[in-house]
Amino acid sequence: MIRHEDNYIDGEWVRASSDDFHQLTNPATEEVYGEVRRGTPEDVERAVAAAVTALAPWSQSTPADRTALLNAIADNMESRAEEISESAVREIGMPIKRARAASTGAAIHDVRNFADALRDVVWEEKIGESTVRRIPAGVVGAIGAWNGPIRSVALKVGAAIAAGCTVVAKPSEVAPLTPLFLAYAAHDVGVPQGVINFVQGSGRVIGEAITAHPDVDMVSITGSVGAGARVMEVAARRVKKVALELGGKSANVILDGADLTRAVESGIDDAFRNSGQACGALTRILVPRSRLAEAEALAAATAESFIVGDPTDEATHLGPLANADQYESVRGHITRALDAGVRLITGGLDRPDGLDKGFYVRPTVFSGVNSDRIAQEEVFGPVVVIIPFDDEDEAIRIANDSEFGLAGGVWAAEREHARRVASRIRTGRVRINGTPIDMRAPHGGLKLSGVGREMGRFGIEDYLEYQAQHG
Ligand code: NAP
Repeated sequence: MIRHEDNYIDGEWVRASSDDFHQLTNPATEEVYGEVRRGTPEDVERAVAAAVTALAPWSQSTPADRTALLNAIADNMESRAEEISESAVREIGMPIKRARAASTGAAIHDVRNFADALRDVVWEEKIGESTVRRIPAGVVGAIGAWNGPIRSVALKVGAAIAAGCTVVAKPSEVAPLTPLFLAYAAHDVGVPQGVINFVQGSGRVIGEAITAHPDVDMVSITGSVGAGARVMEVAARRVKKVALELGGKSANVILDGADLTRAVESGIDDAFRNSGQACGALTRILVPRSRLAEAEALAAATAESFIVGDPTDEATHLGPLANADQYESVRGHITRALDAGVRLITGGLDRPDGLDKGFYVRPTVFSGVNSDRIAQEEVFGPVVVIIPFDDEDEAIRIANDSEFGLAGGVWAAEREHARRVASRIRTGRVRINGTPIDMRAPHGGLKLSGVGREMGRFGIEDYLEYQAQHG
């Protein structure tokens, strides 16, 4: 049994001050394997005070100092990479191969990207006789989601300290231990006291205490629309800057003439990564009506080819969902779609074969229309819906007919054609013909998907303000 008792405040591991523990359950076995002592608003008070004290010297550090610290943190994380990945497997059931690459590996890469991107920030420019400087936003509250347990926190903490801000971070209670490897790394390489602080606890208590604190200048959250909207509301009372990385319902638009097989296989692969618990998952597959039957068959074959099971097994594609709430929520979405008569192509409510324990859901494909709830609501599980269109304008209209605006994909025979269509899609990113994303480019959304951008130079710039010096 793991028993974690400490917050990281002012450069020290200090026992959290509540008597309340949060239980940790392995989603693959449904067994409790640990507990985390929750912090209190008083702990937040101490962490914010440390961050305020650290801000004056840290905000005056040079970009070179910050580059050196970020690279040292990344090196240290690299030396513990397998341990970090195993922690993500235990906490949320992320398959080990994915945890190594897309969670741990990507988080380390993000931290290094921030170190490199500091070169590209324009810290000062002349406007006439005046000087416009970039200055840190101040003390940042960083609230993480569980689906990218270390990445969602590293993207905030890494960018904020690169910008010269100091941070009070709160991991998700679903995955409270994996993000701590960032604090272990920072501590080991000598981060100045108070620059990075971590307080454990729920969003309702600790997240709100951080967000409401008068000395916190900016709050960045990755999470659901509900939590993001609540943060915005609480932050508004003190007119704070917010960055919100929220949900998505992204469309993979496959135009007539595109390579349907590659487009469907690649789209399903994207949609089912992390068992569909990915914000930018391409969960709507838009195909020409004439090719609907073909697309359905391809999608079914692809979904059925995925190995669902033990996340510690190297061969596993889909592990369990992260916890019982997620399991019930995803099954609820599938049930409502079935009750509404949406056509099930494969998957559904039966447990995957051979798995009688764990929060496992079958990779599920529906075929429907864009007004179906299953095509409008973020499921956050391995569920996609195929939607036919009659012409290109209709495809673009359907892609944009969503409350979200996070990601998208366009497939066409000609790349330029796909780009023209992509430029009409209102989302923060669009992948053309399956091209992988470049992690130095910005990530973030429009509409309910949020406000602000993460990754690379764009991520750092979210934590900077302008100061105009006249004379
Ligand atoms: P969540 O339940 O909204 O929680 C996100 C974080 O917010 C957790 O740390 C949570 O704390 C905290 N929180 C909840 N209520 C709060 C409040 N009133 N004040 C301050 N903090 C509060 O989301 P999740 O289930 O962890 O993550 C899944 C969601 O994140 C999905 O919608 C997904 O699309 C989105 N996401 C977006 C991105 C992106 O980059 N756009 C990336 C990944 C995930 P506790 O849960 O610990 O109580």
